[in-house]
Amino acid sequence: MRPIYLDYHATSPVDERVWQAMMPYWREMFGNPASRGHSYGWEAQAAVELAREQVAASLNTTPERIIFTSGATEANNLAIKGVAAALYGHGRHILTVQTEHRAVLEPCAYLESLGFRVTYLPVAADGLVDVEHLRAALQPDTILVSVMAANNEIGVQQPLAAIGAVCRERGILFHTDAAQAVGKIPLDLQALPIDLLSLTAHKIGGPKGVGALFVRRSVPLVPQLHGGGQEQGWRAGTLAVPLVVGLGAALTLAMAEREREQARLLALRTHLWQELQKLEDVLLNGAWSPRLAGNLNVTFLGVNGAELHRQLQPVVAVSSGSACSTGQPSHVLRALGRSAAQAASSVRFGLGRGTTEAEIQQVVNHLQEILPGLRQKSYIKT
Ligand SMILES: *Cc1c(COP(=O)(O)O)cnc(C)c1O
Repeated sequence: MRPIYLDYHATSPVDERVWQAMMPYWREMFGNPASRGHSYGWEAQAAVELAREQVAASLNTTPERIIFTSGATEANNLAIKGVAAALYGHGRHILTVQTEHRAVLEPCAYLESLGFRVTYLPVAADGLVDVEHLRAALQPDTILVSVMAANNEIGVQQPLAAIGAVCRERGILFHTDAAQAVGKIPLDLQALPIDLLSLTAHKIGGPKGVGALFVRRSVPLVPQLHGGGQEQGWRAGTLAVPLVVGLGAALTLAMAEREREQARLLALRTHLWQELQKLEDVLLNGAWSPRLAGNLNVTFLGVNGAELHRQLQPVVAVSSGSACSTGQPSHVLRALGRSAAQAASSVRFGLGRGTTEAEIQQVVNHLQEILPGLRQKSYIKT
């Protein structure tokens, strides 16, 4: 039997209904949406424009504000580097947060190498940005603030409305990486003072390799891909029509089922946390609220992290507190004040559409079984 999948922040399987919606666009309706002279092109274009309407509707904005990309990484790069290039003559300072995804931190680091200054704002012990600290860190030539909507490791939701209000007041553009938030928490772009928003399909039952950037009207942006002038000139390249269709379908489904599904996940997550607390010496990472319903991130004290994850892996697929690509302790957990060893003995549980009560119980049972041994071992060692 394959392990129970509790790594929904990393990715999710394509929903059966999304898969069905995408199907015709691989073979029968294979046209290039930029082909304006025949029906193959028209039907592909119609599918793309429907998806654009679906994405726009889910954010309460209008379709012409949506640029399709290859995912949230590309959307973040376009937003951050695109604004920096457009406002180069106006200011060289960017503000972001230490706990951002690397798809925000790395474009910022790249801009530093070009002469921009970047402030990486620390967070409180609960993972949340203090809006007054943020306000105090703004500089006369700050051109952009980038703060994620919900964190991919600890699930905490940043105060977007308050941060956006400060940015508006100061005439500074506000970007948010909403890869983990779309389809899970309400994001109303009529109400929220957000200028740029990145999203992706594969975290919400859509395909990998497609996402979008919302760009508010009159936001200055320099394209990062030059070519055939697609996406109003903002992002050249033939669109991946089946993937774009999948994004529209996935987001529409997530929105329709959002309240019921998030309530279901919250109940499962709450039960999981109650059971884990009985194991004692378990710390919660990040504020309990506001937090994504499907996220639980905990540190098991007094155990060896590598050994813990070795024993979890056959039964449950989760992420550890060290970035798998580098083996380094998670910069997010470090920013909360956890030690490298504590980060290593941390577990990110990511619950999603396929998660059942029985699965959660199996995971709890397994932890109850392995933890006493793990703790004994580390006590003997020290
Ligand atoms: C997954 C994720 C990304 C990257 O998205 P891709 O579509 O895989 O490029 C960026 N930011 C956050 C917060 C994420 O969770």
